[in-house]
Amino acid sequence: MHDATTHYLHCGRDSEAYGGLINTPVFRGSTVLAKDFSSWEASKKDGNPYAHYGRFGTPTTRAFEDAIAELEGGHSSLVFPSGLAACVHALLAFVSAGDHVLITDNIYGPTRAFVSTVLTRLGVAVEFFVPSAGANIARQLRANTRVVFTESPGSLTFEVCDLPAICQAAHSVGAFVLLDNTWASPLYFKPFEHGVDVSIQAATKYIVGHSDALLGVATANERAWPLLKAGAHDFGQTASPDDLFLALRGLRTLPVRLQRHWSNGVELASSLAHHPLITRVMHPALPGDPGHDLWKRDFLGASGLFGIEVNTQDPVVLARLFDNLKLFGIGLSWGGFESLVVPVGQPQRNHCTPAQGYLIRVHAGLEHINDLQHDFHRALDIALNKPCVAVA
Ligand SMILES: *Cc1c(COP(=O)(O)O)cnc(C)c1O
Repeated sequence: MHDATTHYLHCGRDSEAYGGLINTPVFRGSTVLAKDFSSWEASKKDGNPYAHYGRFGTPTTRAFEDAIAELEGGHSSLVFPSGLAACVHALLAFVSAGDHVLITDNIYGPTRAFVSTVLTRLGVAVEFFVPSAGANIARQLRANTRVVFTESPGSLTFEVCDLPAICQAAHSVGAFVLLDNTWASPLYFKPFEHGVDVSIQAATKYIVGHSDALLGVATANERAWPLLKAGAHDFGQTASPDDLFLALRGLRTLPVRLQRHWSNGVELASSLAHHPLITRVMHPALPGDPGHDLWKRDFLGASGLFGIEVNTQDPVVLARLFDNLKLFGIGLSWGGFESLVVPVGQPQRNHCTPAQGYLIRVHAGLEHINDLQHDFHRALDIALNKPCVAVA
């Protein structure tokens, strides 16, 4: 097996099939003509009379899906128009009225909103579990628990789940384990080696990598694949060939980019931990972080996304901090080449009460680490109203 960097460059590509072109081109199309009557009849597969149609993908779609299935280590993948669409349609593919689902308490906010409103309205019982549950999740499992949906490290507070323990408990009642694997990407966490049944990527983030397209992808093992596939197709989910092309292009450089995001994130997070305005840094790759041991055991690296908590909710101080950051834009999403911050405040939780301060999500981009550290510390000092060091 090649090194991951080499693998990412070569998987899901077939230059010979496309006139020698290195990148699979953008294939557009709705109608796919049958050669004759007998091939039309032969194309009726799995009880589906319309298996050949643009909605089921083009060669651009399949190049991306094949690459992701291989990199995640799963059976097959399906694309969706956004990461959120991948999360919610993967969930819908498995549940029926009367089922029970368990959701980690640090789940991505819009996924939390979906399960709390739509799933509940459809008659599915939704219950949250603490990210530290591990094998204790058994206490919340019921005979009708159909799905355990996790995200590790979770959104905004970055607690790590003990996935092998959760998967073992969930499988003992026949439940499927779905993981939002966006933070680590397929590069730094191997979901299927840890027992997960479906792994979801907001490809919008590190896979696209340049903040210029929205895309989601879900990958299933053999057991979960028929349900995932049928569920997504029944909802008519597709993704644009242009966005798939951008995602395939982004994929090639993902290992090179992530190495830099990883080191920038760890260095920036460690240096911020010592600033007097900051009470907590949430980054599982930092020694002493509550998730550090699990991260070390199960992950192969870290992304550039982490959380910090400042010791005040004073809007004047917060405005001084955010408005003096020059390299960190204020904006949603992450995984592009640029550094970002999101002013969060108090994240919504069912179990743990977040601390007294104000949470900020930080994405360390690909800029030089010295510039990032200088920019952040300067803004923190100004926020504290300390005399500012002259900037060269
Ligand atoms: C951004 C994000 C999503 C949603 O992705 P979109 O493409 O923005 O819909 C899902 N999960 C996590 C963890 C995310 O950070």
